[in-house]
Amino acid sequence: MTSGLSHATDVFVIGGGPAGLAAAIAARRCGFAVTMADHARPPIDKACGEGIMPDGVAAACVLGIPLEGARARPFRGIRFCERDVAAEAPFPEGVGFGIRRTVLHELLVERAAEAGVRMMWGADVTGIDGGGVRVAGELLRARWIIGADGGNSAARHWAGLDACVSHSRRYGFRRHYSIAPWSDFMELHWGDGFQLYLTPVGDQEICLVLISSDHRLRLDHVLPRFPELARRLAGAVRVSSERGGVTASRRLARVYRGNVALVGDASGSVDAITGEGLCLVFQQAVALADAMAAGDLARYAAAHRRLGRRPEWMARLMLLLDGHSRMRSRVLDAFAARPALLSRMLALHVGELSYFDSAANGLALGWRMLTL
Ligand SMILES: Cc1cc2nc3c(=O)[nH]c(=O)nc-3n(C[C@H](O)[C@H](O)[C@H](O)COP(=O)(O)OP(=O)(O)OC[C@H]3O[C@@H](n4cnc5c(N)ncnc54)[C@H](O)[C@@H]3O)c2cc1C
Repeated sequence: MTSGLSHATDVFVIGGGPAGLAAAIAARRCGFAVTMADHARPPIDKACGEGIMPDGVAAACVLGIPLEGARARPFRGIRFCERDVAAEAPFPEGVGFGIRRTVLHELLVERAAEAGVRMMWGADVTGIDGGGVRVAGELLRARWIIGADGGNSAARHWAGLDACVSHSRRYGFRRHYSIAPWSDFMELHWGDGFQLYLTPVGDQEICLVLISSDHRLRLDHVLPRFPELARRLAGAVRVSSERGGVTASRRLARVYRGNVALVGDASGSVDAITGEGLCLVFQQAVALADAMAAGDLARYAAAHRRLGRRPEWMARLMLLLDGHSRMRSRVLDAFAARPALLSRMLALHVGELSYFDSAANGLALGWRMLTL
């Protein structure tokens, strides 16, 4: 880059992870000139469960990112397991996809290039200043600035948007194993104070994630507590090293100020246990582009609140079960005895069921727990 040169762009996106690239693609679809900068270089990896639920698959499709046919593995539902109890249900519509983070990143970069996004890799953004963004010592002017720089967002701080309505954190560690998936379900194994979840990400690969509130806990500590899982994985080659990250449940008081808007984890997030992070990213990107096209970021704030409601509710429910082992056992027993209850819960999770229906489902579940 030539020092002192100032480029005008309609939209400047800080961060080229899933949220930044999705926001850049969505903005190009609305006809904006878009520049994006990330201090890393593609393909960017990150600790992630790598599962995209059917609603996320549909949201990716809207952005022209078809997961079908990509190097991704479909899964058709979710299985909950605890000790010797297992309950499973298929999704009401469509399938989810397990996809390596690096593969997803490659797909997004490809799509952004096709859409005409100007991408600056290895470019550190150091501030927002007088209607522009400071990149590698230069000020690049932009009409709209999007902060998509992840959970520890500096853009959020620069824009004075740090105030939180709620905030808690847990820790996630993931590792890949070379083994043919033994099931076409995403599996969630419950332990006391932690969860292990397992996503098929290829014909010969699975991704295993541990999530807990204890930052010292590691996959090798907890795997022996799941003899069946440990037995299956004992002979499988580990094809990645353990990689950790923070998963935050964070709701911000505001997601925009002036011409600066936040998207993805920078704009708040739900616990990873929901598997909804990437879906939110894609949905927010579309809503933000529409709001910029209308010249009204308040629209984005309203859409952001609405999109977050269901995953936040699901996260609260899952974390409630995390903290109450007796309740969890009874819920799992009820799901195992009446899989239709779990099916309806899953339908709510992926947006196929209304809150009214889910309240009826909640009552049925409560009744089943009392009568077991
Ligand atoms: C353990 C774990 C498991 C998860 N499992 C799932 C799952 O199964 N399914 C799901 O849907 N979601 C899951 N999530 C959530 C999902 O990973 C996130 O929601 C998603 O990564 C958010 O993307 P993002 O682009 O907002 O942030 P990030 O992926 O963090 O990207 C931010 C980007 O900004 C760049 N950046 C930061 N600062 C600067 C700067 N100053 N200048 C330039 N660039 C900068 C970074 O290099 C990075 O590339 C999980 C999360 C965790 C932690």
